[in-house]
Amino acid sequence: MDLQQLTQLDQAHVWHPYSAIDSSLPVYPVASAEGVRLKLLDGRELIDGMSSWWCAIHGYNHPEMNRALITQLSDMAHVMFGGLTHRPAVALAARLVELTPDALQTVFFSDSGSVSIEVAMKMAIQYWHAKGKANKQQFLTLRQGYHGDTFAAMSVCDPITGMHALFSQALAQQFFADSPRCRFANSCSDEDIASLEQQLMIQHNTIAAVILEPIVQATGGMHFYSAEYLQRARVLCDQYEVLLIHDEIATGFGRTGELFACEHARVTPDIMCVGKALTGGYLTLAATLTTLTVSETISQGEPGIFMHGPTFMANPLACTAGLTSLRLLTESPWQKNVLRIEQGLKKGLQPCQHLTGVIDVRVLGAIGVVELTTPVDMNKIQPRFVEAGVWVRPFGRLVYLMPPYIISDTDLQSLTAAVVAVVDSICS
Ligand SMILES: *Cc1c(COP(=O)(O)O)cnc(C)c1O
Repeated sequence: MDLQQLTQLDQAHVWHPYSAIDSSLPVYPVASAEGVRLKLLDGRELIDGMSSWWCAIHGYNHPEMNRALITQLSDMAHVMFGGLTHRPAVALAARLVELTPDALQTVFFSDSGSVSIEVAMKMAIQYWHAKGKANKQQFLTLRQGYHGDTFAAMSVCDPITGMHALFSQALAQQFFADSPRCRFANSCSDEDIASLEQQLMIQHNTIAAVILEPIVQATGGMHFYSAEYLQRARVLCDQYEVLLIHDEIATGFGRTGELFACEHARVTPDIMCVGKALTGGYLTLAATLTTLTVSETISQGEPGIFMHGPTFMANPLACTAGLTSLRLLTESPWQKNVLRIEQGLKKGLQPCQHLTGVIDVRVLGAIGVVELTTPVDMNKIQPRFVEAGVWVRPFGRLVYLMPPYIISDTDLQSLTAAVVAVVDSICS
């Protein structure tokens, strides 16, 4: 298949994320990827600024990841998880329990972030059911949040900006509190938390859990908010007898400068979802972790089992990728790397602050955001990034970077310089 055939067949038959079929927007065929570089089929090389949507934290084609997967493949690619178990799953679960806050002791594996959210929501409902409070089946969440594309996950995305407004009649009705206005590194006033508190006060009898993205509201706007907000949310959940679900799917595994974003606030949720960078971007895998209080209550209540079990649960290859990725992460100076990237992003993106059409430039850990006044024209901006030799995929009014942790200072400078130049060229 040559490049032209591939492009034609792709346009004719293949649906890409959030896209139209037969769209005029270009998609770029990738032949291979190595380190922080995507190698296009036409020979061009792009410096990766996206980590393939938060995932590829060690870069691409990592020799140790590859070796571990080949070894696992020669043992088995997959076996069902009902009634069977295996070392990769058990070792990965044990490692996740070690690395996450102490109270989280039980791990449920699933195939994607969205499904791990569905699982978390089902856990919360089953927990209250087991405790004789079967009317607690709704959820309270934050505006400008994003938790995935499946139905229960969609129901707790921002109802307007969350890309799912057209499904509103088909979705479970949930409760929404205002998006936190208190920014990261600032305190959180009574007023800042009032909306969440009010909803809990009025609705707690029907609410199973509060679900939120700790510290970073990612896809819903890339906002970084106060750690104190998280602490106060934890206190309110306890006060009103509501579980707390943290969605660490984007923030987990070091991206914000702490291994998990909840550590900025030293808060432990009752349920935590991880995904994305869990396998270092190799295979699809997510996990929902919970406390013994939740897992034992569910197991001792009616019907005595947790009602979920995906076909590909705890796929051995994916678990091996997870285990190896966690080893690479924890054995690497990742904190130093994330800090170095944070400094590089701050310095490199700073010139954007003065460009017309830019409202805000913000950086937290290895996340850099340039917020514009108007949504970007993807038809115009995407080819310019590719011409500049970088892979940056803006979203709405946001041009953002979250490079692999292994990126060199030189590549990081090229990446930020390209953002400055391209934003300047489209806004002026
Ligand atoms: C990406 C994401 C999800 C959904 O994960 P998928 O693997 O795409 O299903 C959920 N929550 C957050 C915070 C995410 O960033």
